[in-house]
Amino acid sequence: MITLKKNFFSALILLFLTIIICFFSAFEFLRMHENKKIYPSKGLSTQTKLSTYFKDLQNTPGDTDVYIFQGQKKGGNLLILGGTHPNEPASFITAVLLVENILVSQGKVVIIPRANSSGFTHSDSQEGNPQGFSLETTDGKRWFRYGSRLTNPIHQWPDPALYINPAGQRLSGTESRNLNRCYPGRIKGRLTEKIAYGIMELIKKEEIHLALDLHEAAPEYPVINAIVFHENSAELAALALMELQIEGFEFRLESSPPNLRGLSHREWGDYAKVRAILLETANASQGRFKGKPSASLIVNGKDKNYVKAAKLGRLFVPFDEKGIPLKLRVARHLAAINALVSGLKELAPSIVVELEKMPPPSLVKKEGIGCYLRAQK
Ligand SMILES: [Zn+2]
Repeated sequence: MITLKKNFFSALILLFLTIIICFFSAFEFLRMHENKKIYPSKGLSTQTKLSTYFKDLQNTPGDTDVYIFQGQKKGGNLLILGGTHPNEPASFITAVLLVENILVSQGKVVIIPRANSSGFTHSDSQEGNPQGFSLETTDGKRWFRYGSRLTNPIHQWPDPALYINPAGQRLSGTESRNLNRCYPGRIKGRLTEKIAYGIMELIKKEEIHLALDLHEAAPEYPVINAIVFHENSAELAALALMELQIEGFEFRLESSPPNLRGLSHREWGDYAKVRAILLETANASQGRFKGKPSASLIVNGKDKNYVKAAKLGRLFVPFDEKGIPLKLRVARHLAAINALVSGLKELAPSIVVELEKMPPPSLVKKEGIGCYLRAQK
């Protein structure tokens, strides 16, 4: 009888402990679905949602914040997309930095920091990546999510065995959750195709002249530190490249291959007739050669394996003991945006965009990102 009682109490304690563990892990899991706050600068004119442009996205995990900065003087309209791939932090952080700092005196700037917001709610499986990373600001730490390249399978499932994207390209099934393979989107498509369709609608309704998609890639990937341009933007990309070289930022030009379909730099240009450009920087935490994944690798970008790989000539970017830190990758994106905006001024004076208070790339590279951000409240 005593043993039976003892067993009963042990089971009760175990059950209680399980409930506590489940409660805290469920809480932690749900926290991954919360978007951390962004603090727009006083230059913000309108904050809206992608569903404003495509109603089907309303109340879905594909809806996302859209920040519009309208200048006093009429000019060109610029779209900047961050977070197409939420495991490429320089893309998202550059967009946040712009939202929190810029003023626009001429033209209009539309910024979407989390283009695939669903991808920010989970991590790539079997990668061992941390859930996020923090940056030191002048008044405390600020935490950012490190997400996945793909839409969360909770939001879009199952993957087809073979995915034929809206532009007709055959791809592996998981690519149906890759926003940058789903353009120009489908009205009645899967969630990721609907996000792509919403972005196409925004480009048309906001009458965008120049659209930039910010990315990162592994240092061993051939298209890296690159400006990938639609053929309608060849001259603009070449002008920007010259300015970047003068400023000491080495980039390479890559023309968007006409047979690589479903990507922003191809379909934005083909379907919406907008000048379409994709920018790539080198992120070691995405690479296959990396050592232990960590928040420090994301922020400081130092990795011994990559130093070795560079010495063996296996990389497409220089990589030494200093690594490729996030501040440098963000500075590269900012410098490229600056160079493209000034190139546009030269080529098409009627669609000028004048940006003020943009964090200077040379200072971001030297002093870091944190001094241009507020701490999380
Ligand atoms: Zn990417």
